[in-house]
Amino acid sequence: MDSRYPIHEVFASIQGEGLFVGQPQVFVRVDGCPLRCRWCDTPQTWGLPSDSKQGTDWSADPVRSWCTAQEVAERVRELDPLGRRSVSLTGGEPLMWPGLVEQLRKLLPGARLHLETAGAFPRTLERLLDQVDHVSADLKLPGDMQTPVPLQSALRDFEEAPRDAVQWRLARRAVLALLADRDACLKLVVAAGPEAQDYSELLDDVRELAADLPLYLQSVTPLRDVQAADSKTLDLLVEMAQSRGLSTRVLPQVHALLGLR
Ligand code: SF4
Repeated sequence: MDSRYPIHEVFASIQGEGLFVGQPQVFVRVDGCPLRCRWCDTPQTWGLPSDSKQGTDWSADPVRSWCTAQEVAERVRELDPLGRRSVSLTGGEPLMWPGLVEQLRKLLPGARLHLETAGAFPRTLERLLDQVDHVSADLKLPGDMQTPVPLQSALRDFEEAPRDAVQWRLARRAVLALLADRDACLKLVVAAGPEAQDYSELLDDVRELAADLPLYLQSVTPLRDVQAADSKTLDLLVEMAQSRGLSTRVLPQVHALLGLR
């Protein structure tokens, strides 16, 4: 029997973040994320659909259902019959579902697959690196992270999420080492709260392990009790990145500005 994966939604839109900002893409958004970033803009994807919800009623928005990779690939082809768009695997956390990524690679052989990940799961990332064409990895300040909530499934073996600053640093360094010299970019969401100096260790790690990768400082879209960082902090961060020889750019979430999904 084909494996099923928790799909939140599959839709066509414009990439609003990172190296491919502005590019038309098809997005496959999975459900399930054990992390709890304080500025998460997709908390509706943290949990999983109920076990009984299966199949593809794509008119439901979001579909929020357990689907086969075949069903997802067919929906991608429906949304982009000419195969012009790259396919962004996003979430939630796609690295919770490596089998889906591997099957989509086979089912969409001509498509450019972009993986958007939290940068917290190096063991699974290593397994999937050769299955995708581009990786956009988040760098997280441990202070921005609340305690993770592991996903529960008797049938799956999930890689454990980092729980403290030491584990976050180990995961970050492993991810940076894997992505160095690859088709990849790094993204750092910047919100009000931390001082620019709080990012020093993280930027040192990028300089040491993956200085060739473009680093996008993404000013947070204000939500709930999270506000945007002030321009002074952003200026300081740019200086800190440049003084380490990093190639950096500051971007807002462009899809949010345009009122797109
Ligand atoms: S990793 Fe992504 S989906 Fe998970 S909590 Fe953070 S921003 Fe939200």
